[in-house]
Amino acid sequence: MTWDAELAGRIAQRHTDNLFRRRLTLTGAQGPRIDTDDGQYLSFCSNDYLGLAADPRLVQALKDGADRYGVGSGASHLVTGHQQIHDRLEEALAEFVGAPRALLFSTGYMANLGIANALLHRGDLLIEDRLNHASLIDAGLLCRAELRRYPHADVDAARRLFAASEAQHKMLLTDAVFSMDGDLAPLPELASLAAAHDARLVLDDAHGLGVLGDQGRGSLEHHALQVSPELILMGTLGKALGTFGAFVAGEGALIDTLIQEARTYIYTTAPPPAVAAATLEALRIVREEPWRRERLRSLVQRFRCGARELDLPLADSHTPIQPIIIGEPGQALAVSRRLLNNGVLVTAIRPPTVPKHTSRLRITFSATHDEHDVDLLLEALNGAMHGVH
Ligand SMILES: *Cc1c(COP(=O)(O)O)cnc(C)c1O
Repeated sequence: MTWDAELAGRIAQRHTDNLFRRRLTLTGAQGPRIDTDDGQYLSFCSNDYLGLAADPRLVQALKDGADRYGVGSGASHLVTGHQQIHDRLEEALAEFVGAPRALLFSTGYMANLGIANALLHRGDLLIEDRLNHASLIDAGLLCRAELRRYPHADVDAARRLFAASEAQHKMLLTDAVFSMDGDLAPLPELASLAAAHDARLVLDDAHGLGVLGDQGRGSLEHHALQVSPELILMGTLGKALGTFGAFVAGEGALIDTLIQEARTYIYTTAPPPAVAAATLEALRIVREEPWRRERLRSLVQRFRCGARELDLPLADSHTPIQPIIIGEPGQALAVSRRLLNNGVLVTAIRPPTVPKHTSRLRITFSATHDEHDVDLLLEALNGAMHGVH
């Protein structure tokens, strides 16, 4: 078989298995109502939790930044791509999460790869929750350390993996808020486990930052934990903060090591400085407008109450990520299509993004939704789920 025929065969198989993925094409800004080339939908599938992605104040900060710095950074951080505004953003992020220092990365995916790449070497041990985000799994596969995975949130299984290992350096990587389930990792227990084994705990707070904690400082604030030599935080800027990019927060020695050794930091173009300017504005809004978090919490509550009345299969999540597990990919697609016919967009998430037989609707809320939007969603779900459970 030619290589091309092999590709065509794999694509055909995906269609047969209901696993073919399509891109939806938007024609305007992110928000609760999005315009697509197929019309307008009420959308429950962005990670723009605080509704900042199209906030006029961020847009203005981006424009002002572009006037001053241009568009592209023009080089990597270690050549001439590093601007004063990057420094200012790193300082602001470090202060926000209560860490000595922070380092910007171009994406969260690259930040996760960079941490494992810079800190772990052959003979070291890396353990991960089975439901970790793909970028954390890839971080483990692409570094030279031994990668072991433990069952979801199973602290005892993680403890056994550490206890059985003679590795010199041990690390545990986990989503702080699981991206497809919305539940929280048992962070206090994982932090004591890491401390007991002189291991490093790396928290990926992509879905907690800006959302959890009274001040929006994320999972650390929620669990009253702090960055320390043992605890490393990775946060993303493309979700609740509404912009683009990511950062790692930790002690000085960690940050210096990443600058020297993380290949995904060194060998890539620095993020546009105007985006850093917009992110500084986002950070100000995250601090000064706690109503966005309160509104999110009340929307989630309204949704869960309504879903319970309709007897929908809710997951154990109190974050703005509210999955409805359906089962097989074809069923999840069918429900998603029925919702779409009613003007409601909720994407069906299928393997390999989630384990087999757990295809689901991943519903996410944003502070720019209102109560009526939640009611419309519930009504549409009630019709679309008919005959599924
Ligand atoms: C989105 C996400 C990332 C990747 O961040 P990007 O900046 O989009 O590359 C990493 N980890 C988790 C848990 C995520 O949800």
